[in-house]
Amino acid sequence: MAERKKDSTITWDKKCTDCGRRFTDSMSSLMGMFPCPVPLFKVPTGNCPECRKVAAARREKLAAATDLYWTFETVKDHFEENPPVGGQELIILDTSWDNSTNTYALVKVEVPARGRQRRIVINSYSNGYNGQSFYRSGQNCFSPKGQVRLLPYHPVIGDLIKKGDGREVKLTPEEVLALLGGE
Ligand SMILES: [Zn+2]
Repeated sequence: MAERKKDSTITWDKKCTDCGRRFTDSMSSLMGMFPCPVPLFKVPTGNCPECRKVAAARREKLAAATDLYWTFETVKDHFEENPPVGGQELIILDTSWDNSTNTYALVKVEVPARGRQRRIVINSYSNGYNGQSFYRSGQNCFSPKGQVRLLPYHPVIGDLIKKGDGREVKLTPEEVLALLGGE
């Protein structure tokens, strides 16, 4: 007969590496399994719940800036209200390469509304895993869950690309946040 393991919570006094305060960390098991091995939990330092909250808010802020404050929904609304026209400049965001740097590419509309779904065809950007056709939401038709998406033109990012090679720039989320006036 299988024995059912009882769940438990263990605590450990630690010093926060961010704010320096002492705090009591806790970890609970689920179905008898702890989220991390107990020896790795019972260490002298960690991050207190307040600093973890601050770090999570920071990550969210950086993620929003990385997307130039667009979501698939707002991009769709934007293109519904401002239908793209041939030759118009748009921005491609490619987050596929690594975690620290993302690519922003300047592209032009080749076909503003192809087919019944009025897909936007651009000219041209490829990392080898995306097609040139995008839904109105900016999702790539070839890999809609992929990390290449179409965004409306952004004057700050567009200017930066034009001052460079005219094709693309690579930026960290921190750099984008600063360029967009955040901190
Ligand atoms: Zn702290």
